[in-house]
Amino acid sequence: MILRHRPYTLQLRHAFGLAGSTRTSTPAMLVELERDGVTGHGEASMPPHLGETQASVDAFLRLAAPLLGAVRDPFQTEEILPALDALAPGNAAAKAAVDIALHDWIGRSVGQPLHRLWGLNPARAPLTSFTIGIDVPEVVRAKVREAAPYRLLKVKLGRDWATDQAMIETLRAETAVPLTVDANQGWRDREDALRRITWLAGHGVEFVEQPMGREQLAETAWLRERSPLPLYADESVQRLADVPGLRGVFDGINIKLMKCTGLGEARRMITVARALGLKVMLGCMTETSCAVSAAAQLSPLVDWADLDGALLIGNDCFDGIGFTDGRIVLRNRPGIGVVPRGAA
Ligand code: MG
Repeated sequence: MILRHRPYTLQLRHAFGLAGSTRTSTPAMLVELERDGVTGHGEASMPPHLGETQASVDAFLRLAAPLLGAVRDPFQTEEILPALDALAPGNAAAKAAVDIALHDWIGRSVGQPLHRLWGLNPARAPLTSFTIGIDVPEVVRAKVREAAPYRLLKVKLGRDWATDQAMIETLRAETAVPLTVDANQGWRDREDALRRITWLAGHGVEFVEQPMGREQLAETAWLRERSPLPLYADESVQRLADVPGLRGVFDGINIKLMKCTGLGEARRMITVARALGLKVMLGCMTETSCAVSAAAQLSPLVDWADLDGALLIGNDCFDGIGFTDGRIVLRNRPGIGVVPRGAA
């Protein structure tokens, strides 16, 4: 298979405020895998705090090119993806870009959407949440109006509590839709976290994502026993091997392709999480419709989706999944279901 890649910078529509940072763009890498006249598309997205860069992804893809060039049968993902993973530790987003392009190539080769090849019913695709970053009240109100078609809002909290409460109160003055909260590890003290979650439970919040530090598993387990709301792991879960240790600590996990190396491992994580009685949420970084549409192929299997990454950028270079009344619409197109948008 021929591997091609080029850097791409995702321009955010609004500055994106998280517990520890604010940014206006996200570096990405667009990837193509070609063979037999068929081209599969993939993407790596590298939010700065996760440690990968365009340079690191470029270096990994150069390492991967000979391996992919020597592939005899691209359908043998059970051989190819572990070999790719073994090339170097880390590099989860770079690996995900290849995994997505390979899966897209397979679907295009047989002319079928991946969700169909996996036996999934597209009518079971869930609602997606629309993310509201930390911001001043005027901007929050503008974002809520922009988010009007979406029936679930995900609110980023985790700075000081007065700011967090003001965020929720501003939102609640504008809309009655269910909210989910992502604290992004912003709360360090369990008693304090419990007080905050109890307050949130009185404001129409469905669940809280990553309330405490990724390594604070004992504190999170304490919190979960007392919390009026379910707790979901995000930063505490990266790959398949992390999942069993989260039983009894969280109620569910947030799977993202850029953390877990792609669709192959994400499918396994869903299976293992289900066997352990954990709920599953499917998330994304800021990404184009390429990576988002890839993740969406798995969405009929999950409880919650947070696949708004492409809605948050102003230069999406792919046409992919759609949304109707906030629900994900999986298109009847082969592979991950994307079409490149002209000159990107
Ligand atoms: Mg999160």
